Amino acid sequence: MGHTIFSKIIKREIPADIVYESELLLAFKDIKPKAPVHILIIPKAEIPKVTDIRGFEHAGLLGEMFDAANKIAKDFGIAKDGFRLVFNCGNNGGQEVNHLHMHLLGGRQMTWPPG
Ligand code: 5GP
Repeated sequence: MGHTIFSKIIKREIPADIVYESELLLAFKDIKPKAPVHILIIPKAEIPKVTDIRGFEHAGLLGEMFDAANKIAKDFGIAKDGFRLVFNCGNNGGQEVNHLHMHLLGGRQMTWPPG
């Protein structure tokens, strides 16, 4: 398994502004926020990307990622006005860190299509 910067954050080897933690997940502020609220929600397990997800095996984990996103959105006061959840996958998807992560973006009007 290739370790990434996110593995180091999970192991507390490098700092991050952590906003949520459970047995399976960690969520922290993105270091280069693209919106007033920009949180990364990651599994502690080293799943590199969306194409490594197995629906049956990871169903509970994925459900918990969405529950965490809803909770964090509420905590940050962006649930009512709406927000965006993004998974980038691979080169063309613009994925830079090969550890599965859900972006939670909010606090401003999003535009479509994304770049
Ligand atoms: P991706 O492009 O892979 O979907 O998103 C990776 C995200 O991780 C980027 O938005 C980037 O700003 C963020 N990021 C990269 N390195 C770090 C880091 O060391 N700490 C934090 N908090 N975010 C990071």
